[in-house]
Amino acid sequence: MTIGMVQAAYIIATILFILALGGLSNQETARRGNLYGMAGMGIALAATVFGIVDGNYILLILGLGAGAAIGIKLARTVQMTQMPELVAILHSLVGLAAVFVGYATFLDPSAKFYGVEKTIHDIEIYVGVLIGALTFSGSVIAFGKLSGRIGGNPVLLPARHWLNLGLGLIAIWLGTLFVEGSAAGGGFFPLFLMTIIALAFGVHMVVAIGGADMPVVVSMLNSYSGWAASATGFMLSNDLLIVTGALVGSSGAILSYIMCRAMNRKFLNVIAGGFGTTTGGGGGGEAGEQGEVVAVQAEEVSEMLAGAKNVVIVPGYGMAVAQAQHTVNEITRTLRDKGVNVRFAIHPVAGRMPGHMNVLLAEARVPYDIVLEMDEIKDDFPETDVSVVIGANDIVNPSAQDEPDSPIAGMPVLEVWKGSTTIVLKRSMATGYAGVQNPLFFKDNTRMLFGDAKQTLDAVLRALQQ
Ligand code: NDP
Repeated sequence: MTIGMVQAAYIIATILFILALGGLSNQETARRGNLYGMAGMGIALAATVFGIVDGNYILLILGLGAGAAIGIKLARTVQMTQMPELVAILHSLVGLAAVFVGYATFLDPSAKFYGVEKTIHDIEIYVGVLIGALTFSGSVIAFGKLSGRIGGNPVLLPARHWLNLGLGLIAIWLGTLFVEGSAAGGGFFPLFLMTIIALAFGVHMVVAIGGADMPVVVSMLNSYSGWAASATGFMLSNDLLIVTGALVGSSGAILSYIMCRAMNRKFLNVIAGGFGTTTGGGGGGEAGEQGEVVAVQAEEVSEMLAGAKNVVIVPGYGMAVAQAQHTVNEITRTLRDKGVNVRFAIHPVAGRMPGHMNVLLAEARVPYDIVLEMDEIKDDFPETDVSVVIGANDIVNPSAQDEPDSPIAGMPVLEVWKGSTTIVLKRSMATGYAGVQNPLFFKDNTRMLFGDAKQTLDAVLRALQQ
């Protein structure tokens, strides 16, 4: 392959990546977007392997083989509920790759850079390793938090803002030492010291963020992984990697902004950490202090649904855990056949990753036109006869509005309690991800259907069909 053909292939791949991002912005076109992305990645990989690499083929084949084997195994075995943690750990690999590429480029004996060009190259290496290291350690902690291996409580070190500022200033100082040292044939020690600091910074940044603010962190690390890839592109002088990294970095930044708006948080406040403490406080105290809950059986729920005109279904993380989306679709079809107006209300942070609920409902083939975003449906609850909350908790918690001390205070929530009746499906009185008690369960017009959502919904479906 000539270099001209490689450039042409890179341009085609870039266009396909842009089309992929465009496609992913809408659930109707998301599948097509994925196909564009896969095609773009296939072309990029082929052009790089056949047009750029000129040696070390055994190593390349071993690397590609190992990567493909791990990828195929993960794709086959990972549960839908593990997707968020998988995404987090994949981000960490992008960061780690940037660190390795940075060191390899720095230590490369064949690299010939002089004067200003060398300074620019050294800055690329330094920034690449910095972003890569903090993306790596931050994503590993995010993986731990999302998979429940690390608790959701924010760990707040004393004077943490000063600590962050101090670490930032030391990193800049080490950067100047690195560039000067590298010009004189050294520079390894400041680079190494900065790597340790960046790793510590990544850990500190993510442990300081409470459970409720994790969506912003997930999208922020997504953005960082893009910038890390872009930095890798600069180090390797690979245009496609620069452009692709910038696309991921900027779309992740836009997603972080959308998540912040959805949660009514300021981005800088989230990064500074400390929101979303999972003490369970501010949520109205213990279950017993709030009154009694009214439990119902599946048959009663099916009667309420069959007798309703307007039904709104609010899915949450528990629907993903129970894998109840196919039964939800069946119930939706049955009710619509009976003339009931059924719609879905999707909160932007429902589940454990952006778009989590949309993916599940699309998988179950729920029609797109009845799946509505929060802004499209939030005013319709007063006219709703029955709201069915399936494995959702934080996103329907009124204490976000009523209790200024709550860890989720200020987060917009779906006001299901404004409808005639709310049915909540969950297994117990346990709290959601933010660890906050939910006063919704104790309201007069709330009915609790306890049990695994798949099993209880199967029973509701059977009753509806009889
Ligand atoms: P929550 O985590 O608040 O609540 C989920 C509820 O589902 C739990 O209360 C649980 O109760 C119930 N549940 C779990 N398994 C089952 C099951 N098998 N059957 C029935 N119910 C079940 O989820 P929400 O979707 O309401 O809110 C999302 C939360 O996750 C927010 O706090 C958000 O900030 C956070 N988050 C979101 C991310 C995103 O990008 N969307 C990323 C990271 C965090 P029980 O145990 O009693 O069954």
